[in-house]
Amino acid sequence: MSNEESPSILIIYTGGTIGMIRNSMTGALESYDFEHLVRRIPELRQFNLNISSRAFSPSIDSSDMTPEFWARIVEVIYTNYNKFDGFVILHGTDTMAFTASALSFMLQGLMKPVILTGSQLPIGVLRTDGKENLLTAIEIAAAKNSDGTPVVPEVCIYFNQKLMRGNRCTKTSADSFDAFNSFNYPKLAISGMEIKYNRAMIQPYKPQTQLVPHYKMSSDIIIFSLFPGIQPHIVKKILASNDIKGIIFRTFGSGNAPQEQWLVDALSEATNSGKIIVNVTQCCTGRVKMRLYETGRQLLDAGIISGGDMTVEAALTKMMYLLGKGLSTEEIRQKMHQNISGEITIV
Ligand code: ASP
Repeated sequence: MSNEESPSILIIYTGGTIGMIRNSMTGALESYDFEHLVRRIPELRQFNLNISSRAFSPSIDSSDMTPEFWARIVEVIYTNYNKFDGFVILHGTDTMAFTASALSFMLQGLMKPVILTGSQLPIGVLRTDGKENLLTAIEIAAAKNSDGTPVVPEVCIYFNQKLMRGNRCTKTSADSFDAFNSFNYPKLAISGMEIKYNRAMIQPYKPQTQLVPHYKMSSDIIIFSLFPGIQPHIVKKILASNDIKGIIFRTFGSGNAPQEQWLVDALSEATNSGKIIVNVTQCCTGRVKMRLYETGRQLLDAGIISGGDMTVEAALTKMMYLLGKGLSTEEIRQKMHQNISGEITIV
């Protein structure tokens, strides 16, 4: 039941467990078509909303997600931006935090809700979490303030009763319904009998802002994680590679690394040769503070940039975005620790 005045929502179906069905021969979950999903949720018709959908064909398991696919999602949102009040993206959970982070950079000037959701159990399964996730994500995408502006004008993940900023999320469970968390930023809303928005933490709506889509992401990057016993000859080879432009360097605690001269020298050589190395912690919560210990200070001296409290997903996609824009090494180094889309807390 809707009329022309009702908010319009575009559901963009990319794939993931939410729309999958079990192959009776192999026992594995496989993607299914979007119409099948809609038939399983007759409740969709009860919304006082104009709901349309676009399905990518073929739909994919999100482990097959690519930057080219992100660009296709951006294109769909950009070409439909003026026709809809909000967007819901159905996506597999495995890489949802990467996609949400990437979209937060690729959709500069976004002033409408883009809510990603999915599920741990397919929609056709009796105990599915997909129904609640989808229905509430739609309600959030359509939510308006009394002056008609959207309540949540940013990219978010809605999952298991929590609305979280997209570029602050990480997938934390492979099997719990409570699959995502936003450790370093408060939840933007909690859904119970009503949806309680944490308005002070939501990006403010800025009128007259134009959406500027960005399509090119550079993947000349690696995520490199430290561990006790890491081998010099392997590290040196990676850091010296000419194919790598940027490194997300996952360090211990508040941004610390072993006090090994070979490591400091290899890192210095890499930064001197123009590689951008960003320090993010292996911990779930807290931030990089390279001045706190000598084990961190040596990294600062080697030209490594602090990633503050960014998630790995946010740091990685931010670097892909900045490299994709073709900025100079110095500009990227500056911007990596500046706030672009709410992904980092500036202290
Ligand atoms: N492998 C699936 C995917 O990410 C898992 C899920 O949707 O939960 O597409």
